[in-house]
Amino acid sequence: MRKFLSVNPDICIGCRLCELACAMSKENVFNPKKARIKVDMIGFPEVPVPVFSRLCDSCAGKPQCLKYCPVGCITFIEGNPKPDQKNIVLTEIVAEDWLERNTRKKEEDNADNT
Ligand code: SF4
Ligand code: SF4
Repeated sequence: MRKFLSVNPDICIGCRLCELACAMSKENVFNPKKARIKVDMIGFPEVPVPVFSRLCDSCAGKPQCLKYCPVGCITFIEGNPKPDQKNIVLTEIVAEDWLERNTRKKEEDNADNT
């Protein structure tokens, strides 16, 4: 089965090592602007949301960004439900989902403590 790249923004710490690893491996420069993964900072307080660009080619099956992510939030696994498409997350949707879940969790925690 075909493998696909994915990110879990819930555990991303916003270190941007993935951007540096990508820029270095694809363009031979330590310039995050050249990376094919971008860590968007969304909302207030800001939340890091890594997003693959359409130029990402999965490093021909050996993703370099994944190797340098210190918390393991980038995965390259089998099971893409849409094998002809890259799993490109829409930043706003990921961020909204993250904020909603975390706001709900905070409210539940506050309710437990009263
Ligand atoms: S898989 Fe390769 S091309 Fe895609 S973002 Fe990661 S390092 Fe860049
Ligand atoms: S290397 Fe991992 S933790 Fe750091 S910004 Fe990229 S995805 Fe997030």
